[in-house]
Amino acid sequence: MTLRTAAEYRAGLSDRRNVFYQGERVKDVVGHPELALAVDHSALCFSIAEDRPDLAVRSTFETGDYSAFYHLPGTSEDLSARGRLIEEVSRRGAGTIVLKEVGSDAVFGLLRTVRGAGLEAARAFHRRCLDEDLALAVAQSDVKGHRALGPSEQDDPDLYLRIVASDTDSITVRGAKTHTSFSANADEIVVLPTRAMGPGDAAYAVSFAVPVDTPGLSLYVSPHLSGEPDDFSRPLSSTHKLLESLTVFDDVRVPRDRVFLDGDPTLAGPVAIGFVDYHRFTAINYKLPLIDLIVGAAHLVAEANGITRAGHVRDKLARLSAWAATVRGLAELSALKAREGEHGVWMPDPLLVNTAKYTFAHGYSEASATLVDLAGGLLATGPGGRDWANPEIRPVLEKYYAGAVPGEQRLRILGLVADLTASAYGGYQSVLATHAEGSLEAEKLQIARAHDTGPAIDYARTVAGV
Ligand SMILES: Cc1cc2nc3c(=O)[nH]c(=O)nc-3n(C[C@H](O)[C@H](O)[C@H](O)COP(=O)(O)OP(=O)(O)OC[C@H]3O[C@@H](n4cnc5c(N)ncnc54)[C@H](O)[C@@H]3O)c2cc1C
Repeated sequence: MTLRTAAEYRAGLSDRRNVFYQGERVKDVVGHPELALAVDHSALCFSIAEDRPDLAVRSTFETGDYSAFYHLPGTSEDLSARGRLIEEVSRRGAGTIVLKEVGSDAVFGLLRTVRGAGLEAARAFHRRCLDEDLALAVAQSDVKGHRALGPSEQDDPDLYLRIVASDTDSITVRGAKTHTSFSANADEIVVLPTRAMGPGDAAYAVSFAVPVDTPGLSLYVSPHLSGEPDDFSRPLSSTHKLLESLTVFDDVRVPRDRVFLDGDPTLAGPVAIGFVDYHRFTAINYKLPLIDLIVGAAHLVAEANGITRAGHVRDKLARLSAWAATVRGLAELSALKAREGEHGVWMPDPLLVNTAKYTFAHGYSEASATLVDLAGGLLATGPGGRDWANPEIRPVLEKYYAGAVPGEQRLRILGLVADLTASAYGGYQSVLATHAEGSLEAEKLQIARAHDTGPAIDYARTVAGV
C-alpha cells in the first residue's frame, strides 16, 4: 500500500470519462485550461501527504502507510485529528473543500449504517480506498423534481435515481444526481440516497460506487466559475476552482460487489443521515480558513481605508470575531464530545456539528455584508489585472487609489474582499454557505432531532410548579 503523489492522481484522470463543459465534450480534464485549475486545487489533498505526513498519513503493521483522510474514527482524538487535517488542507485551498474529505465522509457513513452484503461491499470498498489511495466524489442530491412529492410520486420516475433492473451479478440504475462536486476530477463516484423513503420507494433506496469512466455515466459540468484568471483583482478564484456536475446515469450497470444498498427503503434515511453527520463535521472544519480570511480581510480593509478607530467599525469587527470563535469552538467541541456509533465507528456530536454549521451559514451573509460595508464601492467599480499591468495606467491607479496605505496595497486587499463578496466566486461561496452540506432548514431539522430537550422542559415544569 502506498500513497499516490499529486502527479499520479492527475495521471489517473486520463480515461474515457464522459465530461461536458461549456457546451462541449472534454477530451482531457487535466489538459483543459479551466478544468485543470480544479484538478490542481484537488491535488492539494495528495501533496499534503508529502510535507505534513504527521497530519495526512497513517500507518498500521497490517496495512502500511495510508491516507489519513480514510482513517476510520475510533476515538474522539481521531476526529480532532481529522478536523485538523481538513482545516490544514482547506487553508492551502483558500478556505474551500479540497476533495478526499467528501468521499471519506460517505464511506464512514456507510460503514455505520448498511447491513449484510452491503456492509461487506462497503468494507471491501474502504479497503480499496486505503490500498489505492482513491479520490471520490459523492452524488447524494437527486434532481428531485416537485419538492412536495416523494421519489415514486413524481410524474417522471427518473427524477430520483432508481434501480431499473437487477440480476444475480449486478443492478442497473437510471436517473440523475445534481450538484455533484469533484465528479469530473475524481477517480470514482459514491452514490447515496438523498432522503428517508417509504415502502413504495424501494427502487430508489440505492447506494453504490462506480469509476467515473463507467459506460452510461455522463457529467454535465456547471460553467459557473468560468472566466479568465486575474490574480490581481481575483486572488482566490484565479487559483482555486471546484467543479459541480449534473450526473446522469443512463442505465448504468453496477456489479454487486460495489452495491451498498439494494432496495431496502428502511435504510435510505439512516444511510443519508450517516453521511451528513460526517460531512457537516468536514464542512465546519474546512470553513475555518474561510472564516479566518473574512476576519483578516475585514481588518485589512478597515486599516487600508483608515477607519479602524471608528466605533461602528470596532463593533462590526468584534461581531465577526464572535462568529469566528463560536464556529471554531463548536467544531472543536463536536470532536471532543464524539461518541461510538454502530460497528465501532465514532461520530462527532450531531447537535454540536449541526449547530456549528447552522451558525456558520446563518452568520455568513452578515459577515459578507460587513466586508462589503467596510470596503466601499470599489468592490464593484475598481480596476482589473490588465489595467494594473499597463505601465501607463498603473501610476494613475497608484496615485488615486491610495488610502491609509499605498495604492497597490489597498487595491490588492480590495481584490481579496471583492473575490470573497462581489465576484462570481463570492456569489458561489454565498450559495455554498447556504446550501452545500445541506440547507439551513436541513440543519435545523437535525438540531431539533439531536437536542434532548426533556431535562430542560422538566426543569421549567418544576420551577413553574406544574
Ligand atoms: C456548491 C455546492 C456544492 C454541492 N456539492 C454537492 C455534492 O458534492 N454532492 C451532493 O450530493 N450534493 C451537493 N450539493 C447539494 C446540496 O446538498 C444541496 O444544494 C442542498 O441539499 C439543497 O438542495 P437543493 O439545492 O436541491 O435545494 P432544494 O432542496 O430545492 O431547496 C430549496 C428550498 O426549498 C426548501 N425545500 C426543499 N424541499 C422541501 C420540502 N419538501 N418541503 C419544504 N421545503 C422544501 C429548502 O428548505 C430550501 O429552502 C452541493 C450544493 C452546492 C451549492
